[in-house]
Amino acid sequence: MARRKVAAGNWKMNKTPSEAVKLCAELKDLVASDSVDVIYCVPAIDIVPVVDAVKGTNVKVGAENMYIEDSGAYTGEISADMILDAGAEYVIIGHSERREYFCEDDDFLNKKVKKALEKGLKPILCCGETLEQREKGVTLDWINLQIKSDLQGVSASDVAGMIIAYEPIWAIGTGKTATTEQAQEVCGAIRKTIAAVYDQATADSVRILYGGSVKGSNAKELFSQPDIDGGLVGGASLKPEFGDIVNYDK
Ligand code: PEP
Repeated sequence: MARRKVAAGNWKMNKTPSEAVKLCAELKDLVASDSVDVIYCVPAIDIVPVVDAVKGTNVKVGAENMYIEDSGAYTGEISADMILDAGAEYVIIGHSERREYFCEDDDFLNKKVKKALEKGLKPILCCGETLEQREKGVTLDWINLQIKSDLQGVSASDVAGMIIAYEPIWAIGTGKTATTEQAQEVCGAIRKTIAAVYDQATADSVRILYGGSVKGSNAKELFSQPDIDGGLVGGASLKPEFGDIVNYDK
């Protein structure tokens, strides 16, 4: 069965609750699609108003982060249950900004993936190499290490329903997009790793996105690659251009 494409927006630390509601109204008709899954991953404080604002549309909502514990004395954190109860279905785990600025390592991210799955949240697991790693020629080794570590102990059926996003760090927010060949090479390698660790059916089912300066003008070429099932989009997800990304094939 063909994998459905995904256009996931990562709003990062942008949009107050009232701005978020306005953006949803502005994008509503532009992102309408019955063939692409559209997800807005939004700041925690925006989840409730955004869930309300997209009610009755094709848009699903995700969080940008979550904590590994169910509840308790973890000031400032939010739990999987809170995200679910607020009406979101997805959660980004392991974005390079969290890995870098908040020192989240693969052991911790593995715990997050497992907690999200245990609770019924769908993880969007991010991986990606630095420019230095790419220039040293260790990109594929690095990505394989991240994927294997972050998915340690996760079942094949859970992986089959997951989304993985390959986001070269040097392409995030820089305007520098990976070439189609670079993006396909790594997304293809991730799928091969999943096939080796699990089985071909799991590899054929997991959706693998490219992220890093995806724009209306490059989405079609990127999303047409055999192992690229859509995009995780930062900057352009906050603009009407996101509609062109969702409707890349029109
Ligand atoms: C991201 O934040 O995940 C991202 C890919 O950002 P941008 O599209 O702005 O490069």
